[in-house]
Amino acid sequence: MGKPKAKVDTKECLACGGCISVCPQDAISWYANKALVDEKGCISCAICIRTCPVGAISGDGAL
Ligand code: SF4
Ligand code: SF4
Repeated sequence: MGKPKAKVDTKECLACGGCISVCPQDAISWYANKALVDEKGCISCAICIRTCPVGAISGDGAL
């Protein structure tokens, strides 16, 4: 098992784009007008979790 990866709750995502611009790995992109994390690219840095204005990104409680 690798580290837990960031995950977007699409019901909460406001599509502000903040997480996409801050991810150092460019691991977040748009999918169906919501942010989507590419788990293979995510290095579990949690920057996106701290950036999201509505708390829509989680890390299984471990990031
Ligand atoms: S935890 Fe870090 S690497 Fe993973 S999606 Fe968020 S900002 Fe990108
Ligand atoms: S920062 Fe939060 S609200 Fe903004 S696009 Fe990312 S997940 Fe959605």
